[in-house]
Amino acid sequence: DSFHQFPLSNEIQLALTELQYIKPTEVQRKVIPHALRRRDLIVKSQTGSGKTASFAIPLCEQVNWEENRPQALILTPTRELAVQVKEDISNIGRFKRIKGIAIFGKQPFHKQKLELKQKNHIVVGTPGRLLDHIQKGTLPIDKLEYLIIDEADEMLNMGFIDQVKDIIEALPKERITSIFSATITEEVEELSQKYMDHPLKIEI
Ligand code: AMP
Repeated sequence: DSFHQFPLSNEIQLALTELQYIKPTEVQRKVIPHALRRRDLIVKSQTGSGKTASFAIPLCEQVNWEENRPQALILTPTRELAVQVKEDISNIGRFKRIKGIAIFGKQPFHKQKLELKQKNHIVVGTPGRLLDHIQKGTLPIDKLEYLIIDEADEMLNMGFIDQVKDIIEALPKERITSIFSATITEEVEELSQKYMDHPLKIEI
C-alpha cells in the first residue's frame, strides 16, 4: 500500500517521499485514481483526512509546466486555508516546479495583479477577491481546466454562494469540477447538479 499504486511521475513520487507521505490515506486512495481519469467528484471528507493532497497530487501531476496561464483554480472559504493549500501544492509540485499562488481579500489588489501576471499554474483563493480579479480581467481564466471547491459547506455557510456561482459561470465550460465538503448539504447538491458533469460521489 504505497503511492506507487498510482500512475504518478517520478517528480511527484519523489516529492511525496520527501514529505514522508508513505501510505496514502483513505481519501487519497479513493480520490486519486478517479481524479487522474479526469472525473468530476463530490467528496465527503473531514479536514485532517489528507483531503488536500487528494486533489493537489492529481492537479500537480496533470498541469502542464510549459503553459504560462493558470490551469487550475481552487476556492477556499478562508485565507488561512488558501495559504495552507498553496503551500501543499508548492511542496507536492516542487520537482515539477509547479507555481501556486494564494489570493485573498484585505491584501493590496495591485500587488496581486502583478503576481498574477507571472507564471502561475494553480491559483488558490477566497471567492470575493478571486471574482474581483476575474471581473477586472487580472486573472486569466481562458486556460482554466480544473476547478476545486474546497470546504464547500463552510463556503456556503459563510454566504459566498453568489460569488461562487458568478466565478463558475465565468469559467470555460470544458473543465473538470470537484467539490470537497464535510457535509453534503442541499446547497452543495444544488451546486453540483447545476455545474458538474455526472459527478461521482465518494464518501469517507
Ligand atoms: P488535510 O486533511 O489535507 O488538512 O491533511 C492533514 C495532514 O495530513 C496534513 O498535515 C498533511 O500534510 C498530512 N498528510 C496528508 N497526506 C498524508 C499521507 N499520505 N501521509 C502522511 N501525512 C499526510
